[in-house]
Amino acid sequence: MHHGIKKLVLLGAGQAHLQVLARLARHHPGNLDVILLTPFPHHTGHGCLPGFVTGQHTADEGRVALEPLVRAARARWLQGRCTGLDATAQQVQITPTGGAQGVPTTLGYDLLSIDIGTQPDRPWLDATMPGATHHALHLHPVEAFIALWPQVMAMAQKQAVSLAVVGAGADGIELVFAAAQGIREHGLPGSRFTLISGGEDIGPDLPAGVRQRVLAQLRHQGITVLREACVGMSEGEVLLGNGARLACDVPLLTMGMRPAAWLQGSGLALNDTGQVLVGPQLQSTSHAQVFATGGVSAQLDGTPGDMHAGTVLAYNLLAAHEGAPLRTLPSKRQRVALLACGTGHAIASWGPLCVGGRWVWEWKDRIDRGFLELHRVTRG
Ligand SMILES: Cc1cc2nc3c(=O)[nH]c(=O)nc-3n(C[C@H](O)[C@H](O)[C@H](O)COP(=O)(O)OP(=O)(O)OC[C@H]3O[C@@H](n4cnc5c(N)ncnc54)[C@H](O)[C@@H]3O)c2cc1C
Repeated sequence: MHHGIKKLVLLGAGQAHLQVLARLARHHPGNLDVILLTPFPHHTGHGCLPGFVTGQHTADEGRVALEPLVRAARARWLQGRCTGLDATAQQVQITPTGGAQGVPTTLGYDLLSIDIGTQPDRPWLDATMPGATHHALHLHPVEAFIALWPQVMAMAQKQAVSLAVVGAGADGIELVFAAAQGIREHGLPGSRFTLISGGEDIGPDLPAGVRQRVLAQLRHQGITVLREACVGMSEGEVLLGNGARLACDVPLLTMGMRPAAWLQGSGLALNDTGQVLVGPQLQSTSHAQVFATGGVSAQLDGTPGDMHAGTVLAYNLLAAHEGAPLRTLPSKRQRVALLACGTGHAIASWGPLCVGGRWVWEWKDRIDRGFLELHRVTRG
């Protein structure tokens, strides 16, 4: 490395890192070498996933190619997965992906930013839901889900299927609506759809008004809700906590996610669920040269990592490099939350207030596609 040149390593291509790259495209300090380490050549917008499942658009329309963005930011892309981190030595370990050649096995950094989301917790799944690791179609990683979904559609074009989404968070809810719509529109008639919510109600984090609207939509669209835990899976069956067995051709698993296990040995301060602990400036509470955002992180007070924190992250990474003061995340503002119930209906909530309708869906669609478009125009 040339004298005075500092290395910033970005782990993962989540939404926030797209914003970091976009900012670097506008202002890239001459003495900063930026490397993006991520396994796939694109960012997948999770908001666009239901549109892909319904067949409304292709997988590529819900993605942003990283290469043009990386080039515009005058950064470098290493195709690989981080498989270890030593926060004291300031070094990450890398496993190349996609047949990439010439990728180093370790990489040192002066500044590190982690935006790698979460992944299925296989040991937990094996203990609480035996068979799920093998029999379920996992929503994550979404790239694998996107590659496999066309096979579900092909099956539904040959026979009526029983599809059950296990996990009724916002992602599970959006997925069951999208799957029902896509299969009804493009498959044989007679398929059945179930949302398995565990012991609790659907969307435990959703405001009560949204939950009621979602339940009304589920009823309206003929989707069954089972408030039972899924305790196992076998070929063609989902086992429920009450002892019942649900015949199921496609068990779609959206729950059981946690941060990468290798973070445990990194030396970074983590919370009980293994998330990187950060302060309100997105800086690790234990290592000042490490920043983190999105699902892999959480604040000390329990505030979950925010995938929308890209603007502050981008500013702070450059400020940390330049030795300037860092910005604090805006105090918890009430944000409008948008939830799609298939393409054609969505629910917007702001605190306890909520509305639903086609216009809300069109609004959500414009926002999701707009974010991706914004980062496509940086092609340089
Ligand atoms: C259909 C759907 C609906 C949803 N609805 C909502 C909602 O209404 N509200 C809400 O809050 N959330 C919702 N979510 C969840 C939300 O989208 C995710 O929490 C969010 O995308 C997580 O963002 P992230 O930046 O943490 O990670 P991601 O967007 O998952 O990005 C992680 C990136 O890191 C890369 N990566 C992973 N592991 C490694 C590694 N070891 N090394 C290098 N790179 C790696 C990945 O390839 C990817 O590029 C929904 C999700 C889905 C799928």
